[in-house]
Amino acid sequence: LIALYEALTSLGWVYAALRSARVDLEQMVALLDETPEIADAEGARILPAHLDEAGPAAIRFERVSFGYDAKRPILTDVSFAAEPGASIALVGETGAGKSTIGRLLFRSYDPVSGSILIDDQNIRGLSQASLRAAIGVVPQDTVLFNDTIGFNIAYGRPDADVADIEHAARLARVHDFIATLPDGYDTVVGERGLKLSGGEKQRIAIARVILKDPRILLLDEATSALDTRTERAILGALRDLSRARTTITIAHRLSSVRHCDEILVLDRGRVVERGTHGALLAAGGRYASMWLAQDMEEAERGEHGDAQRVD
Ligand code: ATP
Repeated sequence: LIALYEALTSLGWVYAALRSARVDLEQMVALLDETPEIADAEGARILPAHLDEAGPAAIRFERVSFGYDAKRPILTDVSFAAEPGASIALVGETGAGKSTIGRLLFRSYDPVSGSILIDDQNIRGLSQASLRAAIGVVPQDTVLFNDTIGFNIAYGRPDADVADIEHAARLARVHDFIATLPDGYDTVVGERGLKLSGGEKQRIAIARVILKDPRILLLDEATSALDTRTERAILGALRDLSRARTTITIAHRLSSVRHCDEILVLDRGRVVERGTHGALLAAGGRYASMWLAQDMEEAERGEHGDAQRVD
């Protein structure tokens, strides 16, 4: 009974602390996500974070294997190398392990075997904070703080001023939208404020990453369909963002990765094919049939569109 009482008291304390700190659930999730689960090694080294100080980074996965629990392997012997500034795409069925590769790079988990190197240094020997500062993530679903749009963008670089924020928003193709809001950058968004569409949230995430200026980009392509104009704006902004940076894209639509330097096709945690879009199409294997299937789906959707057109 005493234990129960103590548990309840401490729960109450946590609740009170959260309330007084005005931390809401969204923020808590974001904060928890940034809490290092894996401790820094003794004498951990600092990885330069920003593109403008150190240029793009080199990334290497060397025979990386991993499972969330010992009984079920999720990745087996995954190897790839991204030269500074290169773009790598991860494609494959749902559950193939694409996001898991991103989580390992971010060091939310350590591999069971094999190693992950950035600029030829094992990420186990890097300070967690510097590793995470060097990676800009544009997730499928952006979590926004219950705060102003300006705050949400500046979160990428707390010392940013109004001009920096607006510049980032322009590059992310979201400034014109923000300018239409009565309170502009002071508009409160999130659960208790203005609800934004998936595409608007994603462009705010892009603006945040532009300010953060990371050497590495991790893009998790949205699965939900966006309207074509929004999609074009987002793809344009992402292309600008990734041009000089080493980029790993978790892709759901093959059309958005055809220009990547290397495409890895994953199947149940193994790389079963790799190469450029052209080479993979010519090889006539798994990727080629995925491409054909997606092409047909898109053509079908296109036909519907044509039927509805009046001109
Ligand atoms: P999708 O295209 O659906 O996003 P994915 O290729 O990114 O899929 P992952 O998210 O990497 O796949 O998941 C790979 C496997 O790992 C899945 O079977 C999933 O159920 C499992 N998995 C993912 N996260 C966890 C976790 N935190 N704990 C246990 N298993 C997990």
